[in-house]
Amino acid sequence: MSFLTAPASLRIALRASTGTSSHLVRASTSIPRHLKSRNNASRHFSSSRPAQSDTLMDLSNFTESQLTVRDAILKVTANFDNNYWQEHDRTETDPHELHAALAKDGWLGIALPEAYGGAGLGISEATMMMQTISQSGAGMAGAQSIHANVYATQPLAKFGNKEQLDNTIPGIISGKYRTCFGVTEPNTGLDTLKLKTFAKKSSDGTKYSISGQKIWITCAQVATKMILLARTTPLEEVKKASDGLSMFCIDLPEDAKRTPGSGLELKKIRKMGGRAVDANEVFFDNYEIPADTLVGKEGQGFKIILHGMNAERCLLAGEALGLGYAALEKASAYAKERVVFGRAIGQNQAIAHPLADAYMNLEAAKLATYHSAMLYDLAGTEEGSWVSPNTVGAMANSAKYLAAEAAFKSCERAVMSHGGMGYAAEYDVERWLRECFVPRLAPVSREMILNYVSERVLGLPRSY
Ligand SMILES: Cc1cc2nc3c(=O)[nH]c(=O)nc-3n(C[C@H](O)[C@H](O)[C@H](O)COP(=O)(O)OP(=O)(O)OC[C@H]3O[C@@H](n4cnc5c(N)ncnc54)[C@H](O)[C@@H]3O)c2cc1C
Repeated sequence: MSFLTAPASLRIALRASTGTSSHLVRASTSIPRHLKSRNNASRHFSSSRPAQSDTLMDLSNFTESQLTVRDAILKVTANFDNNYWQEHDRTETDPHELHAALAKDGWLGIALPEAYGGAGLGISEATMMMQTISQSGAGMAGAQSIHANVYATQPLAKFGNKEQLDNTIPGIISGKYRTCFGVTEPNTGLDTLKLKTFAKKSSDGTKYSISGQKIWITCAQVATKMILLARTTPLEEVKKASDGLSMFCIDLPEDAKRTPGSGLELKKIRKMGGRAVDANEVFFDNYEIPADTLVGKEGQGFKIILHGMNAERCLLAGEALGLGYAALEKASAYAKERVVFGRAIGQNQAIAHPLADAYMNLEAAKLATYHSAMLYDLAGTEEGSWVSPNTVGAMANSAKYLAAEAAFKSCERAVMSHGGMGYAAEYDVERWLRECFVPRLAPVSREMILNYVSERVLGLPRSY
């Protein structure tokens, strides 16, 4: 059996590649001829591309559809140069122009079903999109400005009700709504199943009242929707800790955010990197939401949200790779140009070898990343019925770990290779180093991934 058989839903063309229509073109009849020819083989390895082009990254393992996505995203990101990102980082200003540009061309629906206005591609292509954004110089800030819109909508598309499928998802794709993801809590941290935010159903069953606190919620200031995980049955009353949690897709109206006493309050967190996007503490105090904001069945929220979590790990791995390759490219160029003691600094093996090592780590992490994304996509299809959720979990977690570590190594080497200039904002590498801690910490830390693999793959006793 071929892993790489293209599902029928891959019949897609990208406006950004063609400039022929204002949306992702879904009907096969609308696909421009030059893209149609790619569709038949869109998930097979590319044989028609040069192995190297505008990047140090080896492109030979990518599929035609991933390379098409890459080309098209590069055209969008070309309008957002490093000056843009330096300035937005300095002023802590939301990069809404990037979100709007991607929404305009339909990119936010890249991995959503065609039936709801998405492109019907997979996490394999979405990972390429996120990597390309990050690698363009936008880094984690650029990626995080749309990140939740891409992965948090995965469980919504699978378990959402009619209104959520017919209105919310198309609204997120078109950019009408921006969404954020509300799971982490200050007092429970990585022990997600103990989270305390509670959604209490009204006696007439028409609404829930939410009380509790979330922390580190990215883009909550600019988002109008939140995918929220809250407890609907107290922990003491459930058989398993993973029961009794529910997922909601709730409104975060501007006026409620700004009105004291509305039951919704946001506090921005000052942070190390990715300063263009906001991160927040979010307080709910009897904040009322309609009952139909529930996604799927009450009490099944943890299982539902897991569906998006493996997708998120793949995307974050791609984002980390983007940072790593951007830093390596900059460092290699600098090492060729910068002359000290009468020779290019890159002639010193103390500079060259760590960069060569960073390259090999990135390439290995890249293979792990796109392998895990492919497994994630396959697991949802008939051909992939042999791919177990455990395999996807192990591969997606491993890829996120490896890519984050490879990115860190690359960003750190890039700063050191630049000498003092590595510390100057205008060379960007200090910004990327600050940002590359995010994939190491979130959405799950390195330590918890090591715990997961020790326990679930190696069968070792649980340590906590
Ligand atoms: C920039 C940024 C953006 C984020 N965006 C979002 C968002 O949009 N939505 C959202 O819900 N969350 C978000 N998060 C939160 C993120 O997912 C959490 O910070 C992360 O899951 C870690 O949780 P914690 O900070 O509570 O760490 P803690 O749980 O307090 O852990 C602290 C440290 O202890 C270690 N540790 C804990 N238990 C164990 C153990 N048993 N074995 C070994 N080590 C252990 C951890 O690995 C970690 O190093 C974001 C975080 C950051 C930094």
